[in-house]
Amino acid sequence: MIQLKTPEEIDRMAAAGRILARCHEILRAKARPGVTTGDLDGAAERFIRSQGGESAFKGYRGFPGSICASPNSMVVHGIPGSDTLKRGDILSIDIGVVLDGWVADAAITHAIGNVTPIAGRLLATTRAALFDAVEQTRAGNRLGDVSHAVQNRVENDGFAVIRSLVGHGIGREMHEDPQIPNFGEPGTGPELEEGMVLAIEPMVNVGTHHVQMGQDNWAVYSQDGSLAAHFEHTVAVTADGPRILTPWHELLGTGVAPAAASA
Ligand code: MG
Repeated sequence: MIQLKTPEEIDRMAAAGRILARCHEILRAKARPGVTTGDLDGAAERFIRSQGGESAFKGYRGFPGSICASPNSMVVHGIPGSDTLKRGDILSIDIGVVLDGWVADAAITHAIGNVTPIAGRLLATTRAALFDAVEQTRAGNRLGDVSHAVQNRVENDGFAVIRSLVGHGIGREMHEDPQIPNFGEPGTGPELEEGMVLAIEPMVNVGTHHVQMGQDNWAVYSQDGSLAAHFEHTVAVTADGPRILTPWHELLGTGVAPAAASA
């Protein structure tokens, strides 16, 4: 069952989302060659706590980190630690913040210094797929319109949508109904209604769509070892259209977000 949120509840989720967006801004500035993913995790933990929030990830099913930090062929759920960033890496950082019982969730894949042209294209496509999907997150549309927007952008650009990992509804719980695949048919699935809040998160491989679990039973890798990217926003369906509750794109200021996607 999809839990609808009132405008006041959406405002409270947006307060969590603002902290989250600022945390992404801080981590992007720190994500340089020689820094470990554990360093980033510590910085995130300190910042989120300084704002009166908590990590939504720490302790979730026993996850030990405050963030997920997933380099190169790792798609998601990387445990932060002694991995040291190198020039030319890509790094996906996923952050969840709980504030006053409401959760926000958002991810970005960063280039660490200059990256290969294919890595640059992967990041640009995955980010664009997220904003294409946000644009579809409107009352009266169907969930399949959101899913299809991701698939269409990714496959037109020659990359692969990961099938076995999905976005999700979000609110008092990090994972609520509905599940949001990154592929689908337009005009299918549940109708979007005002008050729905969705964590939309394209996860994309350069190679095939297959993934495999790492030895720690958390990290998920592309099965063929190709690079993977992950971009995510928490988005509310409102009377005024899609409202992004985790506005990292406004703070990081790279690329072009559609006008309708402003917070
Ligand atoms: Mg998520």
